[in-house]
Amino acid sequence: MAQPTYSLRALVLRRTKLGESDLILTLLSEDGSQKRAVAKGARRPKSSFAARTEPFCVIDALCATGRSLDILKEARLVAAHDVLRCNLEASAAAAPVAELLARMSQRDLANPRLFQSAMRVLDAMDGADDNHCAALSAAELLKILAFSGLRPSLEVCVSCGEPVALTEGARLPFSAAGGGVLCESCRGLDESVLVDAGTLCWAQYFLTTPFDAIAEGPADLSASFAVLHLVQDLARAHIGSSLKSLEFLFTSGLF
Ligand SMILES: [Zn+2]
Repeated sequence: MAQPTYSLRALVLRRTKLGESDLILTLLSEDGSQKRAVAKGARRPKSSFAARTEPFCVIDALCATGRSLDILKEARLVAAHDVLRCNLEASAAAAPVAELLARMSQRDLANPRLFQSAMRVLDAMDGADDNHCAALSAAELLKILAFSGLRPSLEVCVSCGEPVALTEGARLPFSAAGGGVLCESCRGLDESVLVDAGTLCWAQYFLTTPFDAIAEGPADLSASFAVLHLVQDLARAHIGSSLKSLEFLFTSGLF
């Protein structure tokens, strides 16, 4: 009996080698759920899948439902996002986005905003300078956390709900485990680190500003990296481990 097939538009998040010449693709489908499919022969140089199944490619795919893993039957390229593979800095800034999407998206759990925001940020990064690529990456990582129910509290104390003044030059206690900033009276309740108010202002700007505005707005590399460190602390506290590609970004010396 022929296997049932289905079609989907999806973003390639990750490729894992399988056997001699196959790949397992981790895909983020348009409804925000995660799919995994085998691209048979995709590692052979002449395979028509080879160039269409690179990370950050958006494809219209036809898959057959398999017993354990689905099988990719056809793939038509919708967007290649070439710059994100050819430019080292852009690639390093985009990698944590793909890694966090792979960690947060779930099989059979629709979350369309994950796909929509990924499309917008990858398009924006495609034409951005290195400085703005880092800012866009930080913004998307925060938005992915927010869409997954892990939006950090940046302007009100995460413990008691009192507004916290983000005064210029101030350093405020931030609890990654608690998921946000703490006021003076609550700072002892949770393990916290001191974070510059400016970093929290940038994080708030990233969470509340569309990507095209971020791409054209101001960008400060050290502020973006301070926010990326905040994201790493949140990832460690809430999804069990740090993001490897962020660790690479911090230590690679690319920026
Ligand atoms: Zn408080």
